[in-house]
Amino acid sequence: MPDFDVIVMGAGHNALITAAYAAQAGLKVGVFEQRHLVGGAVSTEELVPGYRFDYGGSAHILIRLTPVVQELQLSRHGLHYLELDPLFHCSNGEDPWFVWRDAARTIHELEAKFPGQGEAYARFLNDWTPFAETVAELFMSAPGPLEMGKMAVKSGQGQNALRQLTRILRPYGDVAAEYFSDERVRAPLVWMAAQSGPPPSDPLSAPFLLWHPLYHKGGVARPKGGSGALTRALARATEAHGGEIFVNAPVQQILVEGGQARGVRLVGGETYTARAVVSGAHILRTAAALPGEYVPREAREVRVGNGFGMILRLALSGKVRYRHHHDPESRVGLGLLVKNEQQIMRGYGEYLAGQPTSDPPLVAMTFSAVDDSLAPPHGEVLWLWAQYYPYELSSGSWETRQAEARENILNAFEHYAPGTREMIVGELVQTPLWLEQNLQLPRGNVMHLEMTFDQMFAFRPWAAASQYRFPGVRGLYLTGASTHPGGGIMGASGRNAARVLIRDLTRRGWR
Ligand SMILES: Cc1cc2nc3c(=O)[nH]c(=O)nc-3n(C[C@H](O)[C@H](O)[C@H](O)COP(=O)(O)OP(=O)(O)OC[C@H]3O[C@@H](n4cnc5c(N)ncnc54)[C@H](O)[C@@H]3O)c2cc1C
Repeated sequence: MPDFDVIVMGAGHNALITAAYAAQAGLKVGVFEQRHLVGGAVSTEELVPGYRFDYGGSAHILIRLTPVVQELQLSRHGLHYLELDPLFHCSNGEDPWFVWRDAARTIHELEAKFPGQGEAYARFLNDWTPFAETVAELFMSAPGPLEMGKMAVKSGQGQNALRQLTRILRPYGDVAAEYFSDERVRAPLVWMAAQSGPPPSDPLSAPFLLWHPLYHKGGVARPKGGSGALTRALARATEAHGGEIFVNAPVQQILVEGGQARGVRLVGGETYTARAVVSGAHILRTAAALPGEYVPREAREVRVGNGFGMILRLALSGKVRYRHHHDPESRVGLGLLVKNEQQIMRGYGEYLAGQPTSDPPLVAMTFSAVDDSLAPPHGEVLWLWAQYYPYELSSGSWETRQAEARENILNAFEHYAPGTREMIVGELVQTPLWLEQNLQLPRGNVMHLEMTFDQMFAFRPWAAASQYRFPGVRGLYLTGASTHPGGGIMGASGRNAARVLIRDLTRRGWR
C-alpha cells in the first residue's frame, strides 16, 4: 500500500487548491513544502514587530472570479475577504482619480474631471466586457488549441469577430491609445496591464488591457490578516479532509519506476510513496527533481525571462499622506502611480540594457487602511512594487546594487507623498535575486514563465504538457503558474489540475 493516494510537491496556492479538492474527493493527500510555511508567493508573516508583510502577491482579483472559495468552503476555514473600493488610485502626482467598483461612478467622475474620458471609458467597457468574460471562462478549463479564435468570436458575439481579433493581436499600449486621448487616464491603465510582465509595445499583448472590465465584475480584495490567510485556509481545508501537510520538507527527487511516478524522496532522505504525484513548483524545479531520462528538451527550453519587478516593503510609524490626499480613498486600493507612459518605456529600455530602472512607476499598497491587523494603530504598511528590474545585470550584482534600487524606489514615491521616508521603522527589500533565493522563483519571475503568447493557453509550459499531465511519466501531474492560465493569485490552474487528477484516480469525474 502506498503511503498516500496523492503527493503534492510544493504548497503554493495552486498546489494547495489541488490538494484540497483531492482530499475533499476522498483521496489521501500529503503535501511537502520546502519553506517553513505554506503559501509560496501567497504567504504573510510578521517580519517587523507589530507589522505583517506579504511575501508575494497581495491583490486578490482573479481568484474572485472562480468558484474556488465557495466550493472549498474557505470561509469556514478562516478566510475573510475585505473588499477594496476604490479599486485603484490612479495618479501622475498632480491629478489623482479613482476606479471604483461601480463602473457608472467611475465613468461619471472621469467625465467630470477629464471631459471625454468618461465616455471613452464607458465605450471601452462596453466593447470589451464580453471578451473579458470569455477569457475568464477559458481560464477555468484545460486549454484547447483554438482559444484565440474562440475569444474573438465570442467577444464579437458573431459580428465584428475579425475586427476584434485584429485588436486582440495588437500591443496593449496601442489599444489604450485608440480609446483614451488623455495620458493622465491612459497611463495608469497601461501600467496596470504591464503587471503581467510584457511591455506596452509587445504584439499580442492586448488581452492584459482588455480584461480590465473584470475588475468591476469581481472587484479587488484582501484576505483579512494578509494574503497568507488564503493559503492557511486552504491548508486547513485539506487537513479537515484528512490531508497531511509537511513544511521544511524539500523534495529532492520525484521517484519514477518504469515510466510511472511512485512518490518522492526528501532532501533529508525520507521516502514517501503514492499513486500519483502533483508538482505545484516551478517547472524547472519539477524537471530538476526528475531522473534526467524523463525530462524532455522542451522542459529545459521554457522561457523564464530575466526577472521584471521588485518590491520594497516598508513598516511606517505614521500613515501615508499623498500630496493630493483624499482620506481614506487614496490609501485603500492599489495606487497606480505613473507620471506618463514614457516613464514605463524608459524603465523598460533600461531593463533591456541590463540596468535597474532609475525612476520606476509604482504600485503602492497601504492595506493597513482596510485591515487593522497589519500594523499598529498609528502605523502603516507601505509596499511599493516597481518595474523593471533585470535578474541578470549588465554591470555589478544585486548585492552591490540593491541599495541604489531601493533609494530610487523611495525617491520615486516622494513625488507622490513627500516625507514618507522619515517614517520608516522597518523594511524588506525583495530584488529578483531575493525572490529566487527565498521563494524558489527562478530568475525572479513572479509569473514563473514569461506571460507571452508563445507560452500561454495550450503552449504553457509547452504543448505536450499543457493538459496538467507531465508527458512521458504516468501519474505525474502539474499545476501552478508554470501551467495555464499562468501567474497571479487565481487558483484556476489548481482547480483545473484537480479535475484531471480526480478523474484519473477515482474514475468518478468532477462531482
Ligand atoms: C512580490 C510579488 C508580488 C506579486 N503581486 C501579485 C498581486 O498583487 N496579485 C496577483 O494576482 N499576483 C501577484 N504575484 C504573483 C503571484 O503571487 C504568483 O504568480 C502565484 O502566487 C504563484 O502561485 P503558484 O501556486 O503557482 O506557485 P508558487 O507560489 O510559486 O509556489 C510554489 C511552491 O513550491 C515550493 N517548492 C519549490 N520547489 C520545491 C521542492 N523541491 N520541494 C518542496 N517545495 C518546493 C516553493 O517553496 C513554493 O512554496 C506576485 C508575486 C510576487 C512574488
